[in-house]
This record gives sequence, structure tokens and C-alpha cells, in this order.
Amino acid sequence: MSDGLPSIPTTTDQPFAEIRDEVAKLCAGFPGEYWRRLDETRGYPTEFVRALTEGGWLAALIPEEYGGAGLPLSGAAAILEEVQRQGCNGGACHAQMYIMGTILRHGSEAQKQTYLPKIATGELRLQAFGVTEPTSGTDTTALRTTARREGNKYVVNGQKIWTSRAEHSDLMLLLARTSPRDPAAKKTEGLSTFIVDMREAVGHGLTIKPIRTMMNHNSCEVFFDNMEIPAENLVGEEGRGFRYILSGMNAERILIAAECIGDAKWFTERSTRYAKERQVFGRPIGQNQGVQFPVAKAYANMRAAELMVHEALRLYESGANPGAEANMAKMLAADASFEAANACIQTHGGFGFAEEYEIERKFRETRLYQVAPISTNLILSYVAEHVLGMPRSY
Ligand SMILES: Cc1cc2nc3c(=O)[nH]c(=O)nc-3n(C[C@H](O)[C@H](O)[C@H](O)COP(=O)(O)OP(=O)(O)OC[C@H]3O[C@@H](n4cnc5c(N)ncnc54)[C@H](O)[C@@H]3O)c2cc1C
Repeated sequence: MSDGLPSIPTTTDQPFAEIRDEVAKLCAGFPGEYWRRLDETRGYPTEFVRALTEGGWLAALIPEEYGGAGLPLSGAAAILEEVQRQGCNGGACHAQMYIMGTILRHGSEAQKQTYLPKIATGELRLQAFGVTEPTSGTDTTALRTTARREGNKYVVNGQKIWTSRAEHSDLMLLLARTSPRDPAAKKTEGLSTFIVDMREAVGHGLTIKPIRTMMNHNSCEVFFDNMEIPAENLVGEEGRGFRYILSGMNAERILIAAECIGDAKWFTERSTRYAKERQVFGRPIGQNQGVQFPVAKAYANMRAAELMVHEALRLYESGANPGAEANMAKMLAADASFEAANACIQTHGGFGFAEEYEIERKFRETRLYQVAPISTNLILSYVAEHVLGMPRSY
């Protein structure tokens, strides 16, 4: 959906230029009307996700031996950034890229052989990630969903909330408590990760209820009532699941940050074009500094956030654990995309609110990233505690 937008300058080093071009061509087949129609009906972009899957883009991070492209994280970041930059919405499928990392890093060889090649071809969709619960919220280790071992199966009871794409996924990665919280042990002990085959489970202990939200994100409540999972679907060791989920969070945060950078570029390109074209008082509105400055400031902040995304990617790919940089990249990029969104609405005046301009839809969509998958406050408390050495606040 390049839409004849002027290309704003970004960092001189834009890796994966060919991939970006290919993704942009694919996105051109999914113009604004497509997303508007889905937004109205809260529909799932099945055709768009199919096109991304068939192009191999969602299998970017799956190693070649399991049928994927085996790209580094920066390749996946380039793909998702481009999707957003073209005005599309990767929120419908981005999780497929990083959830599978838990199976890749901690699953058995049998699990990898069973699931990864089929995820790569799209035969199996691993889009659902069941962590957040209504009572525990951000305090993940206080979650209450239990998985009780009975012979060669686990029996699951409890509830998740905000499980995105649950209705459009075959598999869910589930975090549940397998042993009671022991006040003497670390809070992170006793949680385990499972692969749930939702095709078998729906109607057999699994109920999914969509939640209508301000943007089209296909999020759901998920209820477990004596849902059975074969014991072989446990990922890694029982009781160590929280660590497995944590180990994927840097990648998740960096990829969401890349999406926000893509959004910020889309908004700024739109703002710039409109500011040059729209004539009021006999001159382009973009000739007024009051119109220029918010757009220029958002652009500068996007560029700074983009550098942090690149720094987090560099560290990640060198094998370091860039918890601080991944978190800061996500926070700065989410702030930059929302600032650019706000400036874009202001630049467009009344038309910023008209659905056919797409801006209000993207504005609603990008707002999410200051809350999910981790809220800004929690990132700031991470930086305060782990980077600056201040006392833990919670
Ligand atoms: C559209 C959408 C899609 C989502 N998709 C998924 C998904 O697929 N899978 C999944 O597991 N989860 C998902 N989530 C959940 C998301 O990760 C959480 O909403 C988010 O982490 C915040 O948790 P909460 O909503 O429970 O807020 P709460 O934990 O109730 O917090 C509410 C507010 O209080 C603040 N707060 C809480 N504790 C502190 C503290 N100690 N210090 C400072 N501030 C604090 C938070 O920052 C937040 O602003 C999704 C959420 C949304 C809205």
C-alpha cells in the first residue's frame, strides 16, 4: 500500500532492502479498503495472513532444517516494520514469528519435528499465546490456571484473557501452574509451558469468547474446564515454564518495536504529504511552523527509537541478553509511533478522523503498544531496577 507516499529518509543502513521491497509488493495487494472492511466487522485478515505465510515471511525465524528461512532477528524485524509502514497490520499474525521460539529453544526434538515444519508451511497456525489472566494481570507468576498431572495427561482448569487470535490459531502456547505456589520457593518456580492443540480441545474443556476492543485485534477470553493435554505436549521440564517464556521476551519486544517504527514512518509520510498538498489561507499548511514542528519532532524521536531498535538487534544477534535495550526499544518506539500518530491526526485536521483516510484506524492500532505486550510502567521499573540499581518497587 505504498500509495504514492513520499519516502522519508531513515537511517542510512536499512538492512534487508530486497526483503522490504518484496513485503511492500505483497502489502500493495491489501489496500486501505481491505483493512477498513475488516475493522468494521472485526474480521480476521485471512487472505493477508495466507499471503504472508505462502511467501514464507512468517517462517522467517524458523531454521532452514525445519523448513523456515532461518533469518536472523533483524530479518524478521525488517519484515514486520515494512508491513506496518505500508499501512497493513501485522498484529494479526506477528506472534507466529516469535512464539515458536519457545519450542525451538526448549522443546524436544520430537516436538520440533512435529510442529515447526508444519508451522513453516502454514499447515499449522501457532498464533495464540496464553499467559495473561484477569486476576493476576501483569503479575504473571500469580496466575491461577492449573495443569494437574494425571497419568499420561495434564488436566487444565482456569482462565486466560487477551489471548489474541485464539479463534484463528490451531495451537496455543499455554503457561499454567503445575505445582502450588510455595512461599519458600522462588515465585517463578512451579509454572509450566504446554503446546495445546486447540482444534481438539474446543468443545472438550476449551471455550473461546472474543472481546470487542477499540481496534481489530481478535483478542479473546479463554476458559479451561478439565481440558486434557497429552503429557508429551509439556515443553521442556515441568516447573521451568516461566523461564522459557521469559527467554523469548527480548525477541518479542524488539519485533513489536520494529512494528512501531514502521507505523511511525507511515504516519510521518502521510503527514508530510498532506502538509505539502493541503492549501489553507492560500498556501500549503506545511509552510506554517506550527504544522511542521510536531511532525518534525515525531520524526526525530522515531529516528532515535530506531537506533535503539538497531542496538537491541545488534546485541541480540551477538548472543548477548539485551533485556534493557529490548525493553527501551519497545518503549521508545511505541512512544514515537503514538507521537507520530497524534501529529498525523492534527496535521489532517477534520480529515484525520475520517475513516477513509486510514489515520484514525492506525492511530487506534498503534496505541495498543504502550500497554501490550508489556506496559510502559513495567519497562520503566525494569530500567530503574535492573539498569540503574534502584530498589525493586513491586
Ligand atoms: C489487544 C490486546 C492483546 C493482547 N494479547 C495478549 C496475548 O496474546 N497473550 C497474552 O498473554 N496477553 C495479551 N495481552 C495482555 C497484555 O500483555 C496485558 O494487557 C498487559 O501486559 C497489561 O496487563 P493488564 O492488562 O493485566 O494490566 P494490569 O496488570 O492490571 O495493570 C494495569 C495498569 O497498572 C499498571 N501497573 C500494574 N502494576 C504496576 C506496578 N507495579 N508499577 C507501576 N504500574 C503498574 C500497568 O502498567 C497498567 O498500566 C493483550 C492485551 C491487549 C489489550
